[in-house]
Amino acid sequence: MPGRILCSLGLHAWGKKRGYNEYSSNVIEWKQTCTRCGKVKRWIEAKRAR
Ligand SMILES: [Zn+2]
Repeated sequence: MPGRILCSLGLHAWGKKRGYNEYSSNVIEWKQTCTRCGKVKRWIEAKRAR
């Protein structure tokens, strides 16, 4: 599959970015999945102070 070559180069086909935030916490947990190889990227972002 040609897409796999791109993935091996680090050029993943990232799908929808999904954020999970809890009202009780001060951070948002983001998650993105590659639609080709299924690799999951996760990162944490601090919420803006209100
Ligand atoms: Zn990929």
